[in-house]
Amino acid sequence: MAQLSDDCFAFGGALMRIEDAASLIAARLPVLAGTEWVSLVDADGRVAAEDVVAGHDVPPFANSAVDGYAVRHADLDGNGETRLPVLGRLPAGAVPDALAASGGAVRIFTGAALPPGADTVFMQEDVRREGDAVLLPQGLKPGANARAAGEDVARGERIIAAGRRLVPQDLALAAATGHARLPVRTRLRVALFSTGDELAEPGTPLGLGAIHDSNRVMLAALLGRLGVRVDDLGILRDAPEPLARRLADAARDHDLILTSGGVSTGEEDHVRTAVEAVGQLLFWRLAIKPGRPVAMGLVDGTPFVGLPGNPVAVYVTLLFVVRPLLARLGGASVVPPVPQKVRAAFAYRKKSGRREFVRVTLAPGPDGVMEVHKFPREGAGLLTSLTQSDGLAELPDDVIGVAPGDTVAFYPHAILW
Ligand code: AMP
Ligand code: MG
Repeated sequence: MAQLSDDCFAFGGALMRIEDAASLIAARLPVLAGTEWVSLVDADGRVAAEDVVAGHDVPPFANSAVDGYAVRHADLDGNGETRLPVLGRLPAGAVPDALAASGGAVRIFTGAALPPGADTVFMQEDVRREGDAVLLPQGLKPGANARAAGEDVARGERIIAAGRRLVPQDLALAAATGHARLPVRTRLRVALFSTGDELAEPGTPLGLGAIHDSNRVMLAALLGRLGVRVDDLGILRDAPEPLARRLADAARDHDLILTSGGVSTGEEDHVRTAVEAVGQLLFWRLAIKPGRPVAMGLVDGTPFVGLPGNPVAVYVTLLFVVRPLLARLGGASVVPPVPQKVRAAFAYRKKSGRREFVRVTLAPGPDGVMEVHKFPREGAGLLTSLTQSDGLAELPDDVIGVAPGDTVAFYPHAILW
């Protein structure tokens, strides 16, 4: 397996921009995922492990794009209607005979191979049939309504680039070009923990001071959408010793260990002590809000990421930091989501020098232009701010505020997964 160097997460600066985090990840971390061959339908959502090339032309042969009559354009009268005898009939799938030496038309249907010599097809709506002959109007261009062999894809052309996350359209193209199986990256195995003495399993009664663990199910679901295999390993209590042991156990058979909570720098933040006991830990002070700090480390050579505890910070850091990390380890190209440009319908002040993600709802303004409204409350612990918003507005590092009417970048929730 590829090795991670002890200093792979080292970073000299004070505050780290998310772009720096992503490029550091891409430069220093190896691809850990292997390769396996799967059927086309099982390849949906997986990452292509190699470039894939077309095994043959698509379409494989010249064919008709319409139901009508195939002819040789050279046989048409340039000055008026042309009358040609109908010499044959070609439904889709039929093997064409040679078109008579000259002067004939063949009744043809969409997808049928053009008879040798034919280059142009009249639509059936545009012609008149008279017994065994067909009357063709003047003015159709050579090649009309015909599809050339290889006009979509030529044999040998690259149809899928290594690292691409496969979508249903790719599977169709792979099928059309002769493939029944594809080489994809094996799924990363991610060990997932929550940390905190206050946490109780969902559905269990709450004692005073306890809350239900909500981060873990959100993370498991998000990670599933990002294409990894999640092992839900439960809650780690705030005690360094067992915590260190459980992390070391998880390191043995996972590609990444992910925790939430316990990584601020308070004295009750035991994850730090535990990771330091069994590996290395570095805090990335990300220049984002909500989100910092995120702890990055190695436990017995396995990458470790400690996310903050507050649910909104968990959501943002998973999507903007862990997502590129998973892409790298999993051999996927990093494709940053493309935000929509929309109008802000709110005023907001922020500090310069850090990126802020504001939870917003999207609606048309009085003039019909789409605009975003800020979720009315602020806290990084408010789960309703994630369920009642449509996405995140991104306020750049260097701005100190937003005024109504400003253009902002808007990420709908789902494009971040
Ligand atoms: P911490 O970083 O451990 O100090 O946690 C910060 C805040 O997030 C505290 O209010 C925690 O109770 C809360 N928190 C931590 N982990 C979870 C979790 N798994 N589910 C819900 N809230 C959590
Ligand atoms: Mg805690």
